[in-house]
Amino acid sequence: MTTQTITSVPLLDLQAQYEPIKEDVKKAILDVFDSKQFIQGPKVIELEKAVAEYANVPSAIGVSSGTDALVVALMTMGIGQGDEVITTPFTFFATVGSIVRVGATPVFVDIDRETYNIDPALIEAKITDKTKAIMPVHIFGQMADMDPIMAIAKKHDLLVIEDAAQAIGSSYTSEDGTTYRAGAMGDVGCFSFFPSKNLGCCGDGGMVVTKNVELGERIRLFRTHGAQKKYYHDFVGGNFRLDPMQAAVLLVKLPFLESQHAGRRKNAAIYNEQLTGASVPSIHEKCDTIYNQYTVRSTDRDALQERLTTAKVGNAIYYPVPLHLQNCFSELGYKEGDCPEAESAANEVLSIPVFTELSKEQLEYVVDVING
Ligand SMILES: *Cc1c(COP(=O)(O)O)cnc(C)c1O
Repeated sequence: MTTQTITSVPLLDLQAQYEPIKEDVKKAILDVFDSKQFIQGPKVIELEKAVAEYANVPSAIGVSSGTDALVVALMTMGIGQGDEVITTPFTFFATVGSIVRVGATPVFVDIDRETYNIDPALIEAKITDKTKAIMPVHIFGQMADMDPIMAIAKKHDLLVIEDAAQAIGSSYTSEDGTTYRAGAMGDVGCFSFFPSKNLGCCGDGGMVVTKNVELGERIRLFRTHGAQKKYYHDFVGGNFRLDPMQAAVLLVKLPFLESQHAGRRKNAAIYNEQLTGASVPSIHEKCDTIYNQYTVRSTDRDALQERLTTAKVGNAIYYPVPLHLQNCFSELGYKEGDCPEAESAANEVLSIPVFTELSKEQLEYVVDVING
């Protein structure tokens, strides 16, 4: 075997992930064509069962995307006009976009500097008589500090919607001694199967999971225009259905999810040990992480990014503008300085390749470029 000289490393290599399961994926897709079950059907139901079991919750509802998972959960819970939802400004747009789309008002709480997740110590000060829910986001694959969040929610009678789009399979060991997987602690958890998530399909897809079976059944109705019986509508829902073709692909990929996580953790451990040219991520003592992203931090981030880009190492800034400072939310009246940790993170973070199939040589190459 010849050792290849590495001259570039992508941020994510979907081809490498696809290669060993190619034939099974093709067969799964062709089976859907042969069945002509193009809407709902057995593949969706089978995936819902498998994901419910994986997340250790009784109820899972396949939906059209991670964004729609959030929207349909909010709609079903009756959150809308006049309601406030507390969330983090350091997230992908969809978190906050969904709150606004149902007519509610997002209220931003700054993040914890170490984990980039919502800082529970700052939540209570933002609760008003309009607050209906807290929406923590498990950013980069690490769960938010859920014990204090759940305690605050209980005390103030608030719903908790976990944006677990980046965190399927991530876990949190609660003070009660139980280890929960993402999505199992809040009232609902929302997953995304966007291709770059740890469990990605070949298009858009998502899932809502819930420990509350009755709520799960209502979400199921809202997923298809609020109709229990076709053409008889009890509520106004939407078309939020998961494509069976995507469900079929996900059923092929789900059995490999744990080894996908393990591969990322192994790569992360090497970075944690060897990187000196930037700060490595911190993992909360109650959490593990699935490293949907491996995000380093540097006060000289832009120079670091240039070094990586010049050396053809894939990298990305998640996220360059915190949500409270986005133009489309200017009417909410936030200004620079309102969430200083989120703002500082936006200036200093950089995500680097951590995907499972990275070779030892590729990892060494990335380490060398970062350490300079
Ligand atoms: C990916 C993502 C979403 C949205 O998922 P889609 O499937 O792309 O709609 C929502 N929230 C977070 C934090 C995400 O990373």
